[in-house]
Parts: sequence; structure tokens; C-alpha cells
Amino acid sequence: MSIETLVRPEIRNLNPYVTARQESASVRLNANELPWSPRDADGVAPLNRYPDIRPVTLQTALARLYGVAATNVLVTRGSSEAIDLLIRAFCRAGRDSIVVTPPTFAMYRVYADIQGAGTIAAPLSAERDFRLDVAETLERCAPDTKLVFVCSPNNPTGNIVPQADIIELARARSGQSVIVVDEAYAEFNDEDSLAASVAGFDNLVVLRTLSKALGLAGARCGAVIGAPPLIGWLNGMLAPYALATPVVDRVMEAMSAANLNRARRAVIEVVRERQRMTAALDAMPSVVRVWPSRTNFLLARFHDLAAVLRALHERRILVRDFPHEPGLAGCVRITIGSREENDLLLAALRSGMEDG
Ligand SMILES: *Cc1c(COP(=O)(O)O)cnc(C)c1O
Repeated sequence: MSIETLVRPEIRNLNPYVTARQESASVRLNANELPWSPRDADGVAPLNRYPDIRPVTLQTALARLYGVAATNVLVTRGSSEAIDLLIRAFCRAGRDSIVVTPPTFAMYRVYADIQGAGTIAAPLSAERDFRLDVAETLERCAPDTKLVFVCSPNNPTGNIVPQADIIELARARSGQSVIVVDEAYAEFNDEDSLAASVAGFDNLVVLRTLSKALGLAGARCGAVIGAPPLIGWLNGMLAPYALATPVVDRVMEAMSAANLNRARRAVIEVVRERQRMTAALDAMPSVVRVWPSRTNFLLARFHDLAAVLRALHERRILVRDFPHEPGLAGCVRITIGSREENDLLLAALRSGMEDG
């Protein structure tokens, strides 16, 4: 059975919006644009024309970056938008569900709630170092579970799900569910990616983002990598002209060989700091546990979380805590910052704990 039977019929049969044609040499009187930019005099690039319907050059650049064909890629406004598109494409309100493995990225459940889809949890436990159990995850899948979200490396636990386990999930759920692998942090894990494997499975989708390792969170740019029919359905749902001209220009600039090399060096620097911070936190008496991480953050459990949050608050240092995640009691997620920022955090923890 193919995924044609899984996608919502409204989406499979959608008549997408047809945009005004954009031949460059023509007199463009078909899109109700202003013929000049009122701001031309400022020397900034004019924005009076709509951008390309889809940023094809960027799509091609991202396909090259992720080692797949351009027909496997849809460029989205951050991978958050890709999550939303996938849930709306596959989940019928009030009937279908997604499976998530908490503690994990909270947006899967939020978008499912918005769509009226159910969320089934297959929890990871700290006692098992947050390892995903394939058999248990499969057991949680209901007949109408359309999507299984696997975040690897996982936010906020920092560990990976072995690729063999994800492939096993895809095989086992073939014709029933799409496995969505969120690889937001892949670059911090030696570029280990399942993107190249999407060609072999029609129910495997990989999400990538430029928000983390590429340092472009402000640009709002991500990509869905999947089988061409699935990419086609999502493309039909995505707003016309979704990617703004300045965003496409800035991201294309970041795709130059020199800038990609800079981004790789930044990742190496972050990984080095991650190792230093892991060791430093590990040595602190106030720390119960710091979990090994394949990302640009650390998850750490403290004996006295309230004292930690107080000490950091006093020095205006922000970290993420999880008051609504029972499995993460006493834990905070600490982003790896610059060396100076990381030293400020360590100093705050040391002095805060001594005073308290
Ligand atoms: C940060 C993050 C994203 C990225 O979101 P964008 O919309 O691309 O900025 C996606 N998934 C996870 C798990 C994340 O941590």
C-alpha cells in the first residue's frame, strides 16, 4: 500500500492556487504590483515585485547541501512550518493521530492540537538514557496514526535514535504511517543524516533547518525532504510566494562555499565547547547528571533546581526548564553559547551554589 491512501483526500485532490506568470522579459501587468519601488532612492533592493513562486535556486542549493535530488525538497519557513504542513496533510480532524516520544520538541503536539488530531505519547525515560524502544513505539501506534515524529538528535535530551531503528519503524509502518525524522541538530552529530534514505521509502520524511548550525534562525528557513508525491502535496498547501525575497537572498549568500566552510568551523567550535561544558558541569557537586549530547545544548539535572534558577536569574542568564515535563524534574537545557557566555554560566552556578 502506498502513501497515496494515507494523505487526506482533500489534499490529494487539491486544486492549488495558480499564481500570476512571471516571465522576466515581459511587461508585468498581471499581478497588481506597483511598477516601481517608492523606496528606490534609499539604495535598498526594491521589493515591489513578488518573489519567485518557489525559490528554485535555493531549493537546488539545499538539495545539494543535503545530498538529495531537488524533486525531494520543499523549502519552508523554518522546519516548524513543515511540521504544520505534514500534520494538516495527513491528519483528519477528530479521527487521526500522531505518535511522539516525549520529552521531545513540543511543536508536534501543538500543531496536532490546532489541527484537531490526537497525540499519542510513547515516552522516553531518563532511567534508560532516553533511548527509543522500537517495539514499544510501534505498539503505541493506533490504526489511524498517520505520523510518527522521531527527533534525532532529540531536543531536549540530546541523544540520537539509531538510523537502523528509524528504518525499522518505517518498514513496520509502511502503508500506515509516515515516519518524520526531525534532524534539526544533525550538523552537530557529524552530519549523520537519513536524507539520502528517503529515496528508498515512500513513508520516510526528513526535516532540516537553517536555524541551528547554519546560524540563520532569523531567516526562518527549513526544508522537508521526502518522496516526490509527498513533496507535491505539501507544495500545493504552502502559501504562494512563501519565501520573501530578502530571506532567499540572504540564505543563498550563506550557501557559498566560503560561508558553508565558516558554518562548519562554527559547528566544530560549538562541539569543542560542548565537551568542555559537559566536563565542567559533570564536576560540579550541585549537578546530579549531565547527559551526553550530540547537539548544541546540554540537558543537566540539578539537586536544587530552584537555587540554580535563582542564581541564573540574578545574573540575567536564561536557560530552559521544564515545569510541565514530569520526566525532567530538576532538569534544565543549556544552549552552548560563546566561550565567554559559557564561562558566565559556570561562574553563576559555582557562586550561586556556594551562597545558597
Ligand atoms: C529548533 C528546532 C526546530 C527548528 O525550527 P525552525 O522552525 O526551523 O526554526 C525543529 N525541530 C526541533 C527539534 C528543534 O529543536
